[in-house]
Amino acid sequence: MSVLVLDKRKCPLMPCTEKRARLLLERGKAVVLRVYPFTIRLKDRVGGDMQSIRVKIDPGSKTTGIALVRETQTICKDTGEVNTKAAVLLLFELQHRGQAIRDALNQRLGFRRRRRAQLRYRPARFLNRTRPQGWLAPSLQHRVDTTMAWVNRFARFAPVTAISQELVRFDTQLMQNPEISGVAYQQGELAGFEVKEYLLEKWGRCCVYCDTPNVPLEVEHIVARANGGTNRVGNLTLSCHDCNQRKGIIPVAQFLENAPARLARVQAQARTPLKDAAAVNSTRWALFQSLKATGLPVETGTGGRTKWNRTRLGISKGHALDAACVGMVDDVQDWNRPVLGIKATGRGSYKRTRLNKHGFPRGYLMRQKQVKGFQTGDAVRATVPKGTKMGVHVGRVAVRASGSFNIQMPNGVVQGISHRHCALIQRADGYGYFVQQKIALDHKEDAGQAA
Ligand SMILES: [Zn+2]
Repeated sequence: MSVLVLDKRKCPLMPCTEKRARLLLERGKAVVLRVYPFTIRLKDRVGGDMQSIRVKIDPGSKTTGIALVRETQTICKDTGEVNTKAAVLLLFELQHRGQAIRDALNQRLGFRRRRRAQLRYRPARFLNRTRPQGWLAPSLQHRVDTTMAWVNRFARFAPVTAISQELVRFDTQLMQNPEISGVAYQQGELAGFEVKEYLLEKWGRCCVYCDTPNVPLEVEHIVARANGGTNRVGNLTLSCHDCNQRKGIIPVAQFLENAPARLARVQAQARTPLKDAAAVNSTRWALFQSLKATGLPVETGTGGRTKWNRTRLGISKGHALDAACVGMVDDVQDWNRPVLGIKATGRGSYKRTRLNKHGFPRGYLMRQKQVKGFQTGDAVRATVPKGTKMGVHVGRVAVRASGSFNIQMPNGVVQGISHRHCALIQRADGYGYFVQQKIALDHKEDAGQAA
């Protein structure tokens, strides 16, 4: 994983390698600014050489993949084609907490409703709220907000010059009218790939004539090319090899004359385009608007292109790696890296009373957040010298008034760790961090020692 670097005046420099960061720290030329993501500040440098860094985002409902890549573009002298090479620097997976927000608000709604109803009869009030255009439910707005918070943070810690975002699943404009979209698209592999993905989604993943699932499917013209059928998506479906061969150039009505129900279904479905493929998901759209507001150039890509890039370049699956494949890219290097998981945890509870499952008070939240200098959500390293919990535990702390804390680690919770054994790694900032690979765990150890 690359290390983010700031200069003496806290202006971003190019990220460096772990080894270089370690040397700088050992020689006393740098200090640690943050542990997650690992960021150092040079003590005596001001400014430096910059290359362009692109933040790439693959927004998802539960997890958003983010990749920081160093981008180099070369233009071929003969053909004039632009070749974009992306070297992956850092990979992140941002886990959203939409469900937790929804649950908390629903519970608050229930409590308020009960408080009001218990006083006296109130007539039903509904449909009496107006919402501004572009309003998103809090659980969805949170996705936009946390993603933007991280994009802004990366722009502070690295010389970010551009942003890429996956906006839609398929480019239906291009698929519906391959004629208008130019030769490059019609003949390109991307068109074929995107069309096939679209058809798989539209027709379900089985043969349209015999319903066989889990077989290689071929793109099939409902009205054969020989009979004047076009290459438009409306004329395409998917069938197994056998059915494709048997149908040949026979008209579909004749081929399915013994199955009138299936014929009617195929013909009706061919005419209706896939509904939500064209619709830009409202959250993605809101994110796109916020990204544009940063003033940086924003490139948008389709899900079809992301998958095409990923398969073509032989890159593994994953939210962060998908993000690295968003948009126009011809080569992705150094992608096999540890991923930093960032889990949105919130900054505590609004509700002061803890309830049991029947809704009766079970306890009350402390008035003060800090206990013995620690706060719930702080990243700590606990070194327990003896006893059953002997060892080093690195994780997110949950404080208790008694000074006996719980530590949440990726593989479970250790309870009852005294505050005396804990050392702070990083203050709570509303996120929990975990590194997803073996190599990265060593890095975390280094980070802890450096801090
Ligand atoms: Zn078949």
